[in-house]
Amino acid sequence: MSAAHWSVRQRIEIPFQYTAGPAVTRFLQGLTDQKIVASVCSKCGRRSVPPLSFCGRCWQPVTEFRELTGTGQLLSYSSSADRTFGLIHLDGADSSFLHWVVADGGRLKIGSPVEPVWRSERSASILDIEHFRVLAG
Ligand SMILES: [Zn+2]
Repeated sequence: MSAAHWSVRQRIEIPFQYTAGPAVTRFLQGLTDQKIVASVCSKCGRRSVPPLSFCGRCWQPVTEFRELTGTGQLLSYSSSADRTFGLIHLDGADSSFLHWVVADGGRLKIGSPVEPVWRSERSASILDIEHFRVLAG
C-alpha cells in the first residue's frame, strides 16, 4: 500500500513591516515631491531605481543619489483585463522599473516614450505615481 499524499489548501496572512533604510527612504521622500531618485554606485557608477543601499555588482555601500527626469522608454508590457504592467527603462538609470502603464492617446509599443503621472495627494508610496503614460510620437 503506497502512502497517500494529502494536502490542505489554506490561505494564510503574514503581516510584515520593515524599515525602509536610507536608500528607499530617499526614494519615498522623492516621490512625495514628484521626483524619482536613483542610487549611484561610487565604484562602478551603476544607477538603480528603486535605490539600493549597496551595489549588487561590486558590493560597495551606496551613499550617492541622483534625481532622474522621470521620463523613459517602455521595455516590455503585459496586459490583463483592465490594466497594463510596464517594464520601464528610466532615462539615466541602469535598471528597469515596473509600474502601471496607460496608453493615454499614445501608442503602447516596445520603445514607446513614457512619463509619470503623479497623484495630487502623495504619501511616500510607489503609488504616488498613478501610472506612466505613453507620450504621443
Ligand atoms: Zn557598483
